[in-house]
Amino acid sequence: MSFLKLLQRLPRCHFFISDLATSHATLRAFSSSSVHRLNVAIIGAGPAGFYTASKILDKDPDARIDIFEKLPCPYGLVRFGVAPDHPEVKICTNKFDELGQDPRVRFFGNVNVGEHGKISVTTLSKLYGAVAISYGTSSCRNLNIPGEFGSQNEQTSVQVGGIHSGREFVHFYNSYPQHRTIFSQNFLSSGVTGRALVFDINPAALDMLSASKISHVDIIGRRGPLEAAFTTKELRELLSLPNLVFKFDYKQFNDCLDNERAVSTLSKSRPLQRKIDLIKKFESNQQSKSPSEHTISALTNSTFKPKKSWSLRFLESPIAVINHKESIDVTMEPSKSVIMAKNRLIYSSDSKISIENTGEQFTLDCDVAFKSIGYISTPIQGVPFDYQKMIIPNISGRVVDSATNDIINGLYVSGWIKTGATGVLANTMQSAFETANAIIADKPDISKNVPLSAINDTLHKHNILQTSVSYEQWLTLKELERANGEILKKPSLKIDSVSEMLKVVKR
Ligand SMILES: Cc1cc2nc3c(=O)[nH]c(=O)nc-3n(C[C@H](O)[C@H](O)[C@H](O)COP(=O)(O)OP(=O)(O)OC[C@H]3O[C@@H](n4cnc5c(N)ncnc54)[C@H](O)[C@@H]3O)c2cc1C
Repeated sequence: MSFLKLLQRLPRCHFFISDLATSHATLRAFSSSSVHRLNVAIIGAGPAGFYTASKILDKDPDARIDIFEKLPCPYGLVRFGVAPDHPEVKICTNKFDELGQDPRVRFFGNVNVGEHGKISVTTLSKLYGAVAISYGTSSCRNLNIPGEFGSQNEQTSVQVGGIHSGREFVHFYNSYPQHRTIFSQNFLSSGVTGRALVFDINPAALDMLSASKISHVDIIGRRGPLEAAFTTKELRELLSLPNLVFKFDYKQFNDCLDNERAVSTLSKSRPLQRKIDLIKKFESNQQSKSPSEHTISALTNSTFKPKKSWSLRFLESPIAVINHKESIDVTMEPSKSVIMAKNRLIYSSDSKISIENTGEQFTLDCDVAFKSIGYISTPIQGVPFDYQKMIIPNISGRVVDSATNDIINGLYVSGWIKTGATGVLANTMQSAFETANAIIADKPDISKNVPLSAINDTLHKHNILQTSVSYEQWLTLKELERANGEILKKPSLKIDSVSEMLKVVKR
């Protein structure tokens, strides 16, 4: 949510919620005679991968773990999702680094597992007692409405018009490899300001956002305030942004709360009550100011820029996009119109809440529109997949056959590929611990008599030992990013291309 903080500087914007030739340095001191130790392969070095590894080693200090990661760098969404202005969330990487340097753990970065990758899950399953899949999400949900995808500029291959994905935008400002220029068509750019230097935001993103003329952002949810997924902390951050007016339909908000069901729902959830109270408190603070007070504060406060505003809108859904032109020109007409439908909530007997279109429609003109309606996972070859929930089907982390629900021996899942893209790091950690506990409980049935030398032979055959990035090499990269950042007085300047990362490691 916090990247909205950056977008407040952007006129009208709507969000729809929700070879290496080096020998592998990590052929560490594993004794090939210790064949009865639990060997675990983990696919994905995001939080779930690290938390799973940490709990396994906690419970079974003799275990050894190989982590395979698609990118040359670890951390997953902690590096490429968590907002740059939330450095405190990223402190968990200190623990991940400790684990990555543990002699019982080997990190194989730059190793994509799966059909088009260097090695398959089936091959890993033949080598390791347990294979824990924790590759997270790789895509986002679509609205599936006319005009959503705009068109593609033939010269630059950049999407023009349509609705951008919030995920791509997050990747862009977090320097995810290959996402350098995706928004360059849509944001006006000129000169970097000194703001936000304390964060590791991509400088190109900061440049574009700082120069953007967007003056209003609507955040739109299809359901009501009680169903909104944002947290109180996120809401408080937005409400406390300086020089920004919060425009809100308090009547609609109060109508949504004025029924028995809402009162009962609120009485059962203190976090929800706190979120609603925050909006109410904000409303009464606003009401207590007379119009003249607003004017006086605007006149006496030289930094007051009332032209920028944001709003929270509920019970509305986009149903089509009309793209008027390719790029933003803030002095002219808006680049697109989004046709919106008004919704009402439908309560079913099993306490599920759905929405129904009221038949009322209206048009919202805007220059940029994002969909932010959820991340989704994609399947991996040789492993069952639940296409309804978009997760790997499992019982407490043990992968099950989709048709029979039978547990597949030695195959586990953790993190967002296990639960779906929901919750924060604390939830991911708990779910990873559950998976690790399942692995430890199953140890007598899953330990394989495959010596480390045989594992290494296979990894060599698949060109992994020769081409992967070790944890020591990652730390060299990380130090270079830190040193490059120091020059700009930033905590780090991320390298945003895989080939550049590999070049550094090769040196
Ligand atoms: C925009 C955003 C902001 C967030 N902000 C916060 C926050 O402020 N605080 C908080 O607590 N939580 C936050 N979260 C939630 C947190 O990031 C997740 O809970 C957590 O990252 C999920 O961990 P994971 O390991 O399941 O997935 P990921 O973090 O996605 O890690 C998966 C890893 O697997 C790798 N991988 C993918 N495919 C393959 C493959 N085929 N072979 C090998 N490796 C592969 C990926 O490269 C990645 O490194 C945020 C999430 C998002 C999307």
